[in-house]
Amino acid sequence: MSSELQNFLRSIPSMDELLSLPWAAETELELGRDAVKSLFGEVLDGIRMSAREGETPPARISDVIEDEARRLMEARSRASLRAVVNATGVVVHTNLGRSPLPGEALDAVASVARGYSTLEYSLESGGRSHRNAHVEWLLCRVTGAESALVVNNNAGAVLLALTSAARGREVVVSRGELVEIGGAFRIPDILSFSGAKMVEVGCTNCTRAGDYRSAITDETALLLKVHPSNFRMEGFTESAARSELVALARESGVAFMEDLGSGLLEELGVPELGGESTVRACIDAGVDVVTFSGDKLLGGPQIGCIAGSRELIDGMRRNQLIRALRVDKMCLAAFETILRMYLKGNSGEIPTVNMLRAGAEKLRARAEELRCSIEELFRELSVSSYDVSVVGTEDAVGGGSFPAAPLPGWGVALRSTTGVRASHLADGLRNASTPVIAGISCDSVVLHVRTLWGDAGTGVLNALREAVGGGRLR
Ligand SMILES: *Cc1c(COP(=O)(O)O)cnc(C)c1O
Repeated sequence: MSSELQNFLRSIPSMDELLSLPWAAETELELGRDAVKSLFGEVLDGIRMSAREGETPPARISDVIEDEARRLMEARSRASLRAVVNATGVVVHTNLGRSPLPGEALDAVASVARGYSTLEYSLESGGRSHRNAHVEWLLCRVTGAESALVVNNNAGAVLLALTSAARGREVVVSRGELVEIGGAFRIPDILSFSGAKMVEVGCTNCTRAGDYRSAITDETALLLKVHPSNFRMEGFTESAARSELVALARESGVAFMEDLGSGLLEELGVPELGGESTVRACIDAGVDVVTFSGDKLLGGPQIGCIAGSRELIDGMRRNQLIRALRVDKMCLAAFETILRMYLKGNSGEIPTVNMLRAGAEKLRARAEELRCSIEELFRELSVSSYDVSVVGTEDAVGGGSFPAAPLPGWGVALRSTTGVRASHLADGLRNASTPVIAGISCDSVVLHVRTLWGDAGTGVLNALREAVGGGRLR
């Protein structure tokens, strides 16, 4: 080892010196001594490692260590799962938690989370009952299904349905529907994991009812149709109609399951989003099992729903997997509230549904309002280095739904007149105490108003105050 390196390693402050820094003592109150020690350890190891690898050691090493450790500890002391403002215009944004819940649902969650509840208890008999009973009757009412079951998410619903209805037997599925939904949910993999044998029929772009028909054998348990969700095929394409597959399944004595994905319960009445089937339309058409998510178009908490035939769903209830996929009380409380809102005809108050239905004129007026508030804020902060304008935007449903149907929306574009890059302003907004996630287009930051739910507009102004008011981004 060179004497230079030895000298450098000796100049690194000791753990005890670091722990006695005043701010480190404060951090200890948040994280505890062991965690603070291990974070200092991480930083020291990193510095020693890069010095040994021949990187030139920084001059004022104790400052560097202190800065690095402080940054790390601040990050670790902050809550990790935090509320953010979604200014992207993507309504069902999986990375941002999909569907915001209405106040009524939050109240229901708080009231069961705060204390004990009737989760698996019948007030009528004074004895045990089933947790899913709180929502299954309601699900049947809003979908028209004979029976229903809920699990942790739709991936779980599909897995449970396939395992229970087709394990050790054959499932016939179109080659055009062997899709990946994202996050490792791939239809061929889930079929293999369920223990069913996948029988692919048709071609990537064309599959007809006859293709399914010729694949049916004594071993066939079900025909499976999967909503292609996040992709669209164009050109020469054909797929078997739902009604044809229902008739074929009936006549062959096999079941027909449809993984619908996004779980539309009511027509949205938005022209760009036409052509999407509701769960009820599938049930009315005679589909035996329909699976869908609770937190996509339905607008509820993360949950997976299975609706359809009593006989098949009773089979799923007896499957061991159901214990591993069960839903917790907070989700059930939120979901029950949401389903009651549909039942009452109040779906327009469900945030996701409301944001999807928001019309262009209303959005334009809101964008105009936001522009005024931002200009007022900038005057107050004496910031004159941004062009603030109302712009048309392309919003999106998200959550792997309607990939080819951008929703026309409105927003406010911020463009620096002094050369501040849009990405830098976006970073600043993302690092605000309530982070704002915005879009970027043509070197402007674009705040899409469609997804500014509740008091998110105030959140945007606060973040701008922090980001631009500080000076660096003026
Ligand atoms: C989204 C989706 C899934 C997965 O649902 P999660 O609720 O995210 O588990 C499965 N199938 C389809 C068709 C989907 O669109």
